[in-house]
Amino acid sequence: MKYEPIKNFINGEFITIESQRILDITSPVDGTLLTELPCSSAVDLDIAVLSAQKAFTTWSKTRIKERVQVFFRYKALLEKHLHELAAMGSEENGKTIVESIAEIEKCIELTEFACSLPQLITGEILEVSKGVECRTEKAPLGVVASIVPFNFPTMVPNWTIPNAIALGNCMIIKPSEKVPLSIGRIAQLLKEAGLPDGVFNIVHGDAEIVNAICDHPGIEAVSFVGSTKIAQHVYRRATQNLKRCLALGGAKNHLLVLPDATPDMTAQNVTASMSGCAGQRCMAASAMLGVGPVDHIIDKICIEARKLVAGDTLGAVINKASQERIERYITEAEAQGAKILVDGRNVKVPGKENGTYVGPTVIDYVTPDMAIAREEVFGPVISIIRTNTLDEALAIENANPYGNAASVFTQNGGAARYVIEKASAGMVGVNIGVPVPREPFSFGGWNESKFGVGDITGKSSIEFWTKLKKSTTKWNAEAGVNWMS
Ligand code: NAD
Repeated sequence: MKYEPIKNFINGEFITIESQRILDITSPVDGTLLTELPCSSAVDLDIAVLSAQKAFTTWSKTRIKERVQVFFRYKALLEKHLHELAAMGSEENGKTIVESIAEIEKCIELTEFACSLPQLITGEILEVSKGVECRTEKAPLGVVASIVPFNFPTMVPNWTIPNAIALGNCMIIKPSEKVPLSIGRIAQLLKEAGLPDGVFNIVHGDAEIVNAICDHPGIEAVSFVGSTKIAQHVYRRATQNLKRCLALGGAKNHLLVLPDATPDMTAQNVTASMSGCAGQRCMAASAMLGVGPVDHIIDKICIEARKLVAGDTLGAVINKASQERIERYITEAEAQGAKILVDGRNVKVPGKENGTYVGPTVIDYVTPDMAIAREEVFGPVISIIRTNTLDEALAIENANPYGNAASVFTQNGGAARYVIEKASAGMVGVNIGVPVPREPFSFGGWNESKFGVGDITGKSSIEFWTKLKKSTTKWNAEAGVNWMS
């Protein structure tokens, strides 16, 4: 085993988890046993909540200009340890080192945004009648929780950590049990940056801890990122317990490709979108809606896809179950009449025989009723659905219950504008395969890709992590008053 067993991080210290339930954590890259993860219980969560509550009394009163100084230092530490963090993320998640570096760079950008929060959270003030002023200011909530998925071991945690904490909250994070390593380094860096003990805590585990978070009376707000089924469960359970909740779910992102799209650029973008992080991104292209004659672009997509090498330029999928699930989707689509143009099944990576890889896969003549067209596949697979008109393509996009992202590839500004208006997705791209808004713009989908109000990053997140204090004051400022008496 390469690393020590995973520990919780509570009140600034790593704490051994006493548990009979222990999960083996292996690397998707080559099957190496990395560590073991004892699953925490509700008792461990209680200890973390107490530590966070205690820290909150001081942290919430620390001025925001002082709080963000921690994040200026944290940003510098992320830069200093970028390659080390990237290597660990690749090892536990299976993504390529280039993708992991991009992930840490995104953490740096997220932290930069948090450093700008003092400029963004100023309140409002107005003299509403003579001597009477109404004023608003944003107050932290208290102890908050962040529950995260496996596909970005550092970026998704950093969607919530800098903003929630800089705004004065104390946090308990529940990492994915599939990638428990990187978050421990994040805790060390936050401590090194000067974050007081108890402000940031990690409780490792699985569904048991997620449910305990939703039920815990000491936790004010829960943010969740993961699959739609669990997002719905967490949203229902947390709000039933009267907590504020924002739960981001899964996705099925459509790329609409028109015949006038620039062929090379479109093929490169479609392929990069479907295969980046082995297709395990909530922003990954999953279905391509070809509008009219687009065979010349499909030919180029196949050429681009064949350039990818599993275990080198294409990373692993998270585990064997995932690999088998993805391959099942492909086989089922083939049996139903779809045509496999590039086949990523049964890929073997020399020297990494115990890794879990799926090669790049391009499937043509998928129909909207097939499971591969409707469901989230979360692998390096693009399903091409042929349509005759833009409205037909948009109807398929609109009918899907998810609504994270959609993109259109065209040279026609009117068609692009039409798709922006009609797509039923929170994030829309034009000639961009992965339309992630950059800070200070916020990230979040629609429909079954998100439950709750607002978005998880950027300016929108400020509302989620704070509550508004409204004060009305009246002072007489009459001339002639003897101020000294
Ligand atoms: P997941 O839903 O299986 O797990 C997410 C979290 O929920 C983990 O911390 C896990 O421990 C917990 N969990 C799992 N099963 C549970 C249960 N039965 N009860 C309570 N908690 C449970 O998701 P994943 O496989 O880790 O991540 C992939 C999913 O996340 C994909 O669907 C992807 O689209 C989605 N995702 C969405 C976004 C977004 O912004 N919308 C971003 C990243 C990932």
